[in-house]
Amino acid sequence: MPIDVLQLTPLIAAGDEDLHRNYSVCRWYDLPDRERWLDEHNASIRAVITAGHLGISNEMFRRLPSLGLVAIAGVGYEKVDLDAARERGIRVTNTPDVLTNDVADLAVGLMIATMRQIAAADRYVRDGRWIAGEMDLAARVSGRRYGIVGFGRIGQAVARRLEGFGGSIAYTSRTKKQSPHAFHSTVIDLARESDVLIVTVAAGPATRHLVGRAVLDALGPTGFLINVARGSIIDETELIAALQDRRLAAAGLDVYADEPRVPPALSALPNVTLTPHIGSATVDARLAMARLMLANLDAFYAGHPLPTPVV
Ligand code: NAP
Repeated sequence: MPIDVLQLTPLIAAGDEDLHRNYSVCRWYDLPDRERWLDEHNASIRAVITAGHLGISNEMFRRLPSLGLVAIAGVGYEKVDLDAARERGIRVTNTPDVLTNDVADLAVGLMIATMRQIAAADRYVRDGRWIAGEMDLAARVSGRRYGIVGFGRIGQAVARRLEGFGGSIAYTSRTKKQSPHAFHSTVIDLARESDVLIVTVAAGPATRHLVGRAVLDALGPTGFLINVARGSIIDETELIAALQDRRLAAAGLDVYADEPRVPPALSALPNVTLTPHIGSATVDARLAMARLMLANLDAFYAGHPLPTPVV
């Protein structure tokens, strides 16, 4: 059987087993000579499996003449050229909803960890520094003004969690939602009215560096920034400068401009909490994502309607 599925990213073990049991798949990331493999097999590939932050390059797009489906195990699709896909009749699917709660949990966890210095406190105890005295005091989390940038599935799930925190919640998005929370049409207005800014907006050319110097200054020296969306949305150079100069109190980041590389200047800062893009990294979410991705693959091969199409 010719190999007709190209897998650019590993799945959780149970999903990987199902995929390899039912399809003729090549694991791209294990190939010793990718160029040669592509020259030999490019014509037979009908489906590519990828992750949101990986997508598929336009070059690979061009080199797969029989491609009919790009199945993303993830929500973001900013790294897939949707116009090129439409032109060639290539379908694109993602896995929304099944990871929403996990990413929202992490956003709130990062917010608490950052404001209460939980990671630093852990290091404090492990390093034996407690004997010498108590840590510096942290900032209160509850009762604050929370601003959510992007009010889609994840942004709204963050809001639902924050409703228990006794503060006020406001948001920005392209469109005003049916929501009891205050809508701001610009991120800078939202930042001015917030103590904590939580970024959950979709990535793309329109939101690149949406959070730059002006927004960071509007958030100010007592403000906190949390990003669980994509690194491209924040101007990382400006963020590092603001944190160094204490023009911003602290940041909690799950995503970065050039993952998995994190600028040493960022890692060196005491006022950041850093996680390695783990928003959806729970067994439960990864299993559900693999299953939904496989459901899209099955539907594509069976000629049935795709469960969660992007294009
Ligand atoms: P979603 O439901 O599509 O929500 C996206 C939000 O972004 C919507 O509020 C949308 O506004 C807004 N938006 C899109 N384009 C915009 C633009 N040009 N200007 C301003 N706002 C814009 O997506 P989701 O499921 O909540 O996921 C959000 C993002 O989280 C994903 O795109 C992904 O990058 C990221 N993510 C990260 C992780 C992680 O591991 N850290 C995991 C999953 C997802 P409207 O509502 O007005 O359309």
